[in-house]
Amino acid sequence: MSQNDNEASELAGATCGDLTRMKLAILSESPADEAALEVLAGYVLGTPFGRVQLALRARGWPSVEQVLPSILRHLHFTTDADALVVVVDSDDTVVHNEAHEAPGYHHAGCRLCRLRAVFRRTLKNLPPARGRTRVLRGVGLAVPAIEAWLLCGRDTSVTEFAWMAGQESGVPPYTRRELKRRVYGTERPTLPHELKRAVQEVSRHKGDIRRLENDFPHGFGALARDLRGWDKQNS
Ligand SMILES: [Zn+2]
Repeated sequence: MSQNDNEASELAGATCGDLTRMKLAILSESPADEAALEVLAGYVLGTPFGRVQLALRARGWPSVEQVLPSILRHLHFTTDADALVVVVDSDDTVVHNEAHEAPGYHHAGCRLCRLRAVFRRTLKNLPPARGRTRVLRGVGLAVPAIEAWLLCGRDTSVTEFAWMAGQESGVPPYTRRELKRRVYGTERPTLPHELKRAVQEVSRHKGDIRRLENDFPHGFGALARDLRGWDKQNS
């Protein structure tokens, strides 16, 4: 997008009088992941939103979990972000499932459960700030890595179900390296190439995330459900 396009869309937003447009911060494992998540969040929300850029960067697990409390406090007190989207790769850890959704349940080996716990712990005692009670939560788990989401609909062998069956049998259906090769044509893409491919692949869904929710019901489904719940939490 050229700078003129940016200015034009800003102006268009302003003339619509859409001053209540949501503002989102996105935290993931690379700028390419975050670009893909911005597109997907737009598909789920079905409405334009603003971005709040994060000064702090986290690269991979456990860094995301470690920086999350200070990022949440920063967003709450010093920005007008309405919500924070966080997505991490599951790698070889436990995949979140329905059993983890039971009230009060928390699986210490599940990264999605752990990130939700950080949101809960951090936001619990914060006083209201900047006209809102808290920053809304959008947490997802890419199983086993975001490249699986990027292949959704193009490579039908790549699903959460296939990965979990592999965990059970001890024979993984694919490796994270293979997924990278399938998406980028190399295991070590440059950042511009990674960014371009990530956005190309998620844009294939053209606003319709049903396939992603079907093939990744736990890790992507959790994210989509969080985002859809924002309306209710806000009102
Ligand atoms: Zn879980």
